[in-house]
Formats: sequence, C-alpha cells, structure tokens
Amino acid sequence: MNHLVPQTMGQQFGRRSWAEPWKIKMVEPLRMISREERQRALEEAGYNTFLLRSEDVYIDLLTDSGTSAMSDRQWAGMMLGDEAYAGSRNFYHLEEAVRTYYGFRHVVPTHQGRGAEHLISQTAIKPGQFVPGNMYFTTTRLHQELAGGIFVDVIIDEAHDPESLHPFKGNVDLAKLEDLISRVGAEQIAYISLAGTVNMAGGQPVSMANVQALRELCDRRGIRIFLDATRLVENAFFIQEREEGYAGRSIAQILREFCDYADGAWMSAKKDNLVNIGGWLAVNDDSLFEELRNLVVVYEGLHTYGGLAGRDMETLAIGIEESVQDDHIRARIGQVRYLGELLTDWEIPVVQPVGGHAIFLDARRFYPHIPQDEFPAQTLAAELYLDSGIRSMERGIASAGRDPKTGDHHRPKLELTRLTIPRRVYTQAHMDVVAESVKAVHDARESTRGLRMTYEPKYLRFFQARFERL
Ligand SMILES: *Cc1c(COP(=O)(O)O)cnc(C)c1O
Repeated sequence: MNHLVPQTMGQQFGRRSWAEPWKIKMVEPLRMISREERQRALEEAGYNTFLLRSEDVYIDLLTDSGTSAMSDRQWAGMMLGDEAYAGSRNFYHLEEAVRTYYGFRHVVPTHQGRGAEHLISQTAIKPGQFVPGNMYFTTTRLHQELAGGIFVDVIIDEAHDPESLHPFKGNVDLAKLEDLISRVGAEQIAYISLAGTVNMAGGQPVSMANVQALRELCDRRGIRIFLDATRLVENAFFIQEREEGYAGRSIAQILREFCDYADGAWMSAKKDNLVNIGGWLAVNDDSLFEELRNLVVVYEGLHTYGGLAGRDMETLAIGIEESVQDDHIRARIGQVRYLGELLTDWEIPVVQPVGGHAIFLDARRFYPHIPQDEFPAQTLAAELYLDSGIRSMERGIASAGRDPKTGDHHRPKLELTRLTIPRRVYTQAHMDVVAESVKAVHDARESTRGLRMTYEPKYLRFFQARFERL
C-alpha cells in the first residue's frame, strides 16, 4: 500500500504511485552528531528542544513555522523587492493576493503572526470582555489576555479526546457559546476567535457547516468573527475531502467561501503561506482598519510594510498563490498522513485522526507511569532527540502555562509531543527514519523517567524553560 496517496488520489489513480509535485534544485547537507554529543547538547539545553542549536539537530520537526522551502518563483521574487519606505509595489501585490484568495478588503502587513494578534487584540478587545475561541493558541491567548480579554474555550468536547475520530474536531460547540453569551451578554463578547485548523487539538479542522452556523448565531447576536487563518488552507483540504458537497470544489474556492463567513483574519504567513518570515491582518470594517493602520505604525512599521522588507512581501504574495494549489496541499497533508499511518500501524499512540501539519504523539498513553506534573510530553521530546537527533516540541502542561489568577499550572487534557512537518523540505525517506526513531523510543518507554522544571520564565514559558531528569 502506498501511504502517500491520500484517499481521494488513490481512488482517482487506482494503485499507481504518486510523488511530491516538485523536484529539488538546491540541497542543504544534513549532519548527525553522536549519541554522546547529543546527550551533552541536551543537558546544555536544559532538556528543552527550543534551546538546542540547529546545527546539533538531524531532522528538524520542531515547527512548520518559517521552515518551508521557497520555490524558484519565490526566490526570483526576492530580486523584485521594491525597498521603498512607503508604497512599495510589493505591498500592492500582497494586498491583491490576500484580497483574491482570502477575500478581505483591507490588509495590514505585520512582521509575523503575533504582530497581527497584538494589533487585533488591542483594537478589538475592551478590558474585561470575553474572547471565546475553538481551543487556545499560546501567542493568541497571551495577546488577548494582555489586552484585558478573558479567553473561553468553546471547542467541542471531542477535541480534547485524542482517540475520538470526529472528522471536524476543530468545530465550535454552539451550545457552549450560546451559554456564555446568555451568561455574560453579547456586548461583553469582544469577538469569536476561530482557528482552522486547530493546532493545539492536533491540527484538526473546522467544517464549513460549523462556520456557517456560527455566522448565523453571531449575526443574531451582533458579534464579530475573526479567523486565525494560519492553517486555513489545510483546513480547506479537509473540507474538500470530508464534507459533503465540496469534493468537486477547488481549495481556493473553499478557502474563499470559509473566509466569507468572517469579519477579518490574522495570519502567520510562516505556515500556510510558504515564507520564512511574515504575517498579515485583514479586515472588512473601515473604521477598524483605520485604527489598525494607525496602530501598526507604532509597533511594526508603516502600513505598507509592517516590519517586512519589500522582498519579503513579494515572496509572501507568491507564496499565497502557491499555497492554494490543490496538488501542493495534497502532497503536504499526504506526507503528514504517511508518517501518521506508519506510527498507527505500529500501535504508537498518536492523536486521531491525523491532522494537517503534524503528528501529535499522545504522551499520556506513551508514558502512563509519568504524572503530568513531571512533563511526559517534554520527556518524550528529549528522548527522541537523544535517540536520533530528531527535534520535536512539547504541547502539554509546559506549553499551557499558568492560570494568571491562581498561579497554578493550567493542566490541559492533551499532553502531546508534536512532530511538525515543514512544507516541501523533507522526503518520504526522512519520514521513515522518523517513524523508526519514535518506535525505538516507544520500545524503551518503561525505563524512562520524567523531568523537573528548574527555571521558569514569566511569559510563554515553554520557549525558554529548563528541566532536569528526575
Ligand atoms: C504560529 C501561530 C501563530 C503565531 O504566529 P507567529 O508567526 O509565530 O508569530 C498564531 N496562531 C497559530 C495557530 C499559529 O500556529
């Protein structure tokens, strides 16, 4: 069986193999250091994969953020950078690409996603207001809280269950949302923060029916919807594959229809949009845009560059166009799925169904003997690095941080280690190597001990926290 063939392609082509829709023009050699060197590197990094040097990593699955390979067209676009301080032609190209593919009227470039999150949070949240969302994302929630907002998780319960096979685990539970609205009043809701796919739930999609129903509810109550569009192209793939009536529609059409239900979006272009740095914020409302355009000057740069060079905006405009090509997104998700199927066949606990950008190892089931306060997902990331030099990331209790009121750990139900696949970077052979390393760590699971945190930063602690072995 050829695992790389997503179901839709398999049906189309029967048993014929199918490969990545690109060939390699330039290579970057990989280096693998010895186990002793890896042990030393891990200790120096305080058992935190964020603190490792990239040079000491063999296959880097820390994140799919800014790690994509750009195309020859994007590299050519770098040379077309118009580095004028104001009114760069690359800005207008970017604006046109966002308008065409995402459909929003006004576009503000930002240096990356969190720059956009900062601006939208400061302009659209009044202190004390609630911000319901389909599960939190680290930087998103922090910016909402720094603006005085109170985040409320309104995702369906299935999202918190790593074994549930619900096809759209990113969906909003409309009953939870209605309940919140009737408790606090619609005027106390800043906006709905809707992400597709949902990173922290395992890259799980939101259905078109769900965003449509959400729009109806919000229209009745006069509430705005803003999208975290970071992985919305991947979300469109799942709609095309799983939702009735969308099999014959293109990714670009589905993406556009989804966005049409929202009032605006922020974007970490380092993910779906295939660039190494960049972001944007886009809204339909004229007066909100006025405010954003004013605020971006304070924090990012003039409203026609927002912290980006002209060449960055050019590669981003081209990246947007490439990201919505059906064969690109099928290959991207097909590769993630290939790795997921190998691990599933070997009975290694991973979040099901496999999502869009990563495999999430379920550290609770992987290490049932390690209590959550001893950081099982962080432990698993450290063990993987030690085994083979593969770098992954914790998405569990360390990432969840502390409750700002009580000071106690947030204790998320999901305790996961994320193997995130960069776009257009690794081959199927790399995926085989990764799967075999996970299996080796799984085989040695019973003798593995947990970790203790020895240093804890105040904000987004998972980035810089240090640990030692118990
Ligand atoms: C990465 C990410 C962000 C933040 O974007 P940066 O470009 O890293 O600042 C926001 N939301 C989601 C879902 C993300 O994955």
